[in-house]
Amino acid sequence: MIYLDNAATTKPCPEAVQSALEAMTDNFGNPSSLHRAGLNAQLAVDKARKAVADSLGAAPENIIFTSGATESNKRALRGASAAYGKKRRRIVASSVEHASVAETLADLEGKGFEVVYVTPREDGRFYAEDFVSACNENTVLLTMMYVNNETGYILPVREVFTAVKRRYKDIITHTDCVQAYMKLSVKVNPLGADLISLSGHKIHGAKGVGALYIRKGIRLIPTVTGGKQEKGIRSGTESVPLICAFSAAVSKLAPSINERYERVSALKERLVGLVSAADGVEINSPDDGSPYVVNISAAGKRSEIMLHYLESREIYVSSGSACSKGQQSGVLGQFGITGKRADSALRISMTADTTEAEIEQFAEALREGITSVRG
Ligand code: PMP
Repeated sequence: MIYLDNAATTKPCPEAVQSALEAMTDNFGNPSSLHRAGLNAQLAVDKARKAVADSLGAAPENIIFTSGATESNKRALRGASAAYGKKRRRIVASSVEHASVAETLADLEGKGFEVVYVTPREDGRFYAEDFVSACNENTVLLTMMYVNNETGYILPVREVFTAVKRRYKDIITHTDCVQAYMKLSVKVNPLGADLISLSGHKIHGAKGVGALYIRKGIRLIPTVTGGKQEKGIRSGTESVPLICAFSAAVSKLAPSINERYERVSALKERLVGLVSAADGVEINSPDDGSPYVVNISAAGKRSEIMLHYLESREIYVSSGSACSKGQQSGVLGQFGITGKRADSALRISMTADTTEAEIEQFAEALREGITSVRG
C-alpha cells in the first residue's frame, strides 16, 4: 500500500500505540479518583498536558484536551461568542475554513451574529489589510486556519492577528492549526493567537483526541457541564489512553519539525516535477504552500474515478477534502480553481516517512490512469 492521504489521517507511531496501551492496561485509573490508581492516571495526563503546552510555548494550565479539532473549533467559537458576544456581534473569518469552523459560523449566524468572510484576492492569496478592514469596533472574534487542508496554502495568521490586534485589541483570535501543528512552528505568542485548535490523528497520535489552547484570561462558556474536568470547560472523564498517545506523538515529532519540513519539501519538489511532466496535469497548490499537501488536477478526469483507479493500484489519495465525504467543499473555488479543474482535483498528502520511490510509483500510476480511464 502507498498511503498518500496523511492530511485525512496518519498512521499512529509506535510510541503513541505503546503509550495508549500502557494507559489501557497498567495505568487504567480515573484521573479524578483520590487513590493511587487515580493519581497515576492524573500524572500521565499532567505529563501529556505539559508536552503539548511546551510544544506551543504555552503553560500547561492553558491547554484542555478534547475529542479532536472539530470539538476544539466548536468550543472555541461557541464558547467565546457566548462569553463576549452580548454587545459585539460581528465575527470575521477566512472563507476557506474547514467544515467544523464553517458550520459553527453558520450556526452563530442563525443566532444573530453577523459573519463577515474574507476571501483570497485574485492571486489566490489573503492579505492582512483585508482582515483589518473587515473588522470593526463591533467585532468579537476573528478566526482563520493556519494551513489549508485542501491545498496546503499557508494563511498569513501572524500578520493578520498582529495587524488586527494593533487596531482592535479586544478581538479574540482563534486559529485552526490542525494541518500546521508539528509541521510548521506553531507558537502562541508569535502567532498572537488567543485560541488554537489541534488534532491528535493528523500527527501520528490517535483519533478522537485533540486540544484547545486558551490564553490566560480568556473565558469560554462551557456547553457540556458535569464533573468539572478540564477546568470545567469540558466535563467528562479524560480519555487517558488517547491523551497519552497524542502527547507521545508530540514528544516524538516536536524536535524534528524543521528537518521533516526539509525532507517533505524535497518530496514535494520531486512530485511536482514528475506530475507536471504528464499531459494536462495542473498544480493547484502554491509553490510556497505547506509541502505536506499537494493538490493537483488530473487532466479533466473526474477525481473519484481517478481515486478509485489509483486505489486499484493500492495507492491511496483523496479527492479534495476527506472530511467532506466526497462532497465538494467550495474551498478550491475560493482559490480560483473551478469547473473541470476542480472536478478533477486530487489531494496527495505526505509525511516524513513517505519515500521517493512511492512518489515515483504514484506519478507513474497517475500517468497510466490519465491515458486509460475515461472521463
Ligand atoms: N480542521 C482541519 C483543517 C482539518 O483538516 C480537520 C480534519 N480533517 C479538522 C479540523 C477536524 O479534526 P478532527 O478530525 O480532529 O475533528
